[in-house]
Amino acid sequence: MRLATRVQQLPPYLFARISELIAEKRAEGVDVISLGIGDPDLPTPPHVIEALQRAAEDPANHRYPETEGLPEFREAVARWYERRHGVSLDPETEVVSLIGSKEGIGHLPLCLIDPGDLAISTSPGYPVYEVATMFAGGETLALPLREEDGWLPRLDEVSDADADRAQLLWLNYPNNPTGAIADHAFFERAVAWAKQHDVAIAHDLAYSDVCFDGYEAPSILEVDGARDVAIEFNSLSKTFNMTGWRIAMAVGNADLVGVLRRVKSNLDSGVAQAVQQMAIAALDGPRDAIDGHNAIYQRRRDRAVEVLRELGLHVDPPSASLYVWARLPEGERSSADYAGRLVEETGVVVTPGVSYGDAGEGYIRISLTLGDDRLEEALDRLSRFARGQ
Ligand SMILES: *Cc1c(COP(=O)(O)O)cnc(C)c1O
Repeated sequence: MRLATRVQQLPPYLFARISELIAEKRAEGVDVISLGIGDPDLPTPPHVIEALQRAAEDPANHRYPETEGLPEFREAVARWYERRHGVSLDPETEVVSLIGSKEGIGHLPLCLIDPGDLAISTSPGYPVYEVATMFAGGETLALPLREEDGWLPRLDEVSDADADRAQLLWLNYPNNPTGAIADHAFFERAVAWAKQHDVAIAHDLAYSDVCFDGYEAPSILEVDGARDVAIEFNSLSKTFNMTGWRIAMAVGNADLVGVLRRVKSNLDSGVAQAVQQMAIAALDGPRDAIDGHNAIYQRRRDRAVEVLRELGLHVDPPSASLYVWARLPEGERSSADYAGRLVEETGVVVTPGVSYGDAGEGYIRISLTLGDDRLEEALDRLSRFARGQ
C-alpha cells in the first residue's frame, strides 16, 4: 500500500520527544501535569445545555441538517455580529455554519487554491492553515512574526512576485500561540494590501471573546471594505466553553461564504440541529457566563505571569486568548530543550514555541485551561524549581 504524497508531507510531530519524556516520567510514577493543551476546563453554561436537552427531544432534529445551517442559527449569528461588532450580515448569503472552525479552515483552501498556488501564513501560527493549504496542493509562505512588531506580520516583506502569486492570506488575532492582538489600523493595512494584490483574507477569530482587562477584540469586518476580500472564522468553542460540541461559523464576503458552502455540501451534511439550537441559546443568551470565565482566566493569567517571571522568562501579559507566551531566559536557545528540562525536573509540560514554526523558537507557550487546583500545583512546582528547592 502506498500512501498519498499529502500524507507523507504531513509535518513531523515536533512534540514527539517531549511525549516520550512524559511517558517515561509517568512510568516512573511521576504525576505529570500538562500546560500544553488549549481546551477550556470550564463547563458549557447550564442554559446552553438545557437548550440541547430540549432540542434532543424534538424528532425534527433527528434528521439530516442542511449544510449551511438552520436559518435561525444564521440569524442568531447575524444578531451576535450586530451587537458585538456593529457589523450587519445577511444571514442568507454571508453566514455558513461549520462543524467547528477547524473544519472550515481545513476546507477553505479547496475553494481558492489550485496546485502550485501560494497561501501566506505566519510563523509562529496555528498549524492547520499550512496543512490545509498543502492538502489542496498549495504552498505556504510563512511570514516571520517578531516580538518587536507586537507579533503582527510585515506585509511589505512579501515580494511583488509572491504577492501576485498569492491567493490567500491567513490572519489570526487574538493570536494562538502568542496571545497578540490586532487593532483596526492593522486590519485596514491588511485589507488594502489584499485588494492591491487580489488576495483573499481568512481571519480566524477563535478567541473573539476570551479577553481580559476590558479589552474587546475587533472583527476584521469592522474595517471599511473588508467584506470585499475577507472571510472570518468564528467559533462557539472558546467563547462558550463548547469545544466538544463542534459548532462554529464562517461569515463575511458572500462569494467566499457561498463557495465554502458549496464545497462543504459535497463533503458533510452540516451540524446536528440540536447543537445549532444550543448555539442559538449561547449567542442570544446573557453575557455574564462569558465575563465569569474571563475573570477566571485573567486570574490564572496573572498568577502564571508571576511564576514565569520567577523562572527568568520574559512575559508581556496577554490581553486575550487562553495562552501565555514567554521568551526564554538569556542564554537559553532551544525551546524544546527548555521544555524537556522542565518536564524532567518538575513534571510540568509546556509547549516549545518552535512547534508553531521556526520563528517561535526561543519561546514557550502555556495554556490557562487547567482546573485551578492543578494549575496551581503546576505553577507551584515551577516556582519551587525557580527558587532552586
Ligand atoms: C481552538 C482554535 C480553533 C478551532 O476551534 P474549533 O472551532 O473548535 O474548531 C481555530 N483556530 C485557532 C487559532 C484555535 O486556537
